[in-house]
Amino acid sequence: MDCVFCKIINGDIPSAKVYENEYVYAFKDINPNAKVHVLVVPKVHIESIDSVDEENIEAVSQVIKAIPTVAKECGLSNGYRVITNVGEDGGQTVKHIHFHILGGEKLPVKLA
Ligand code: AMP
Ligand code: ZN
Repeated sequence: MDCVFCKIINGDIPSAKVYENEYVYAFKDINPNAKVHVLVVPKVHIESIDSVDEENIEAVSQVIKAIPTVAKECGLSNGYRVITNVGEDGGQTVKHIHFHILGGEKLPVKLA
């Protein structure tokens, strides 16, 4: 499958790993939008929140569960923001579900 995040998970493309367990991989975003910008992904390929179902919800839950651990690992004791972009209007560019963790500073532009 031609998926950049699957290639990162498989080690075919290098990444700056922050955290990993059986279900989840977290790595630094290559084009950071905050002092800390990390992506947390399931090791199985799921396109987006839009394709979450009974079969894959456990993998997504594992990602959500890992987020506070990743945040702690990154020293985000003063809070952070979690974003997942979905589809065209959401601005999703990589079609493997991922949660952006942004922090390390007071974040600008609050859309929600
Ligand atoms: P989105 O626009 O929500 O789909 O987010 C995709 C994110 O993946 C962007 O913030 C990119 O900077 C990031 N990205 C793309 N390729 C890589 C890569 N090889 N390593 C790390 N981050 C990447
Ligand atoms: Zn993938």
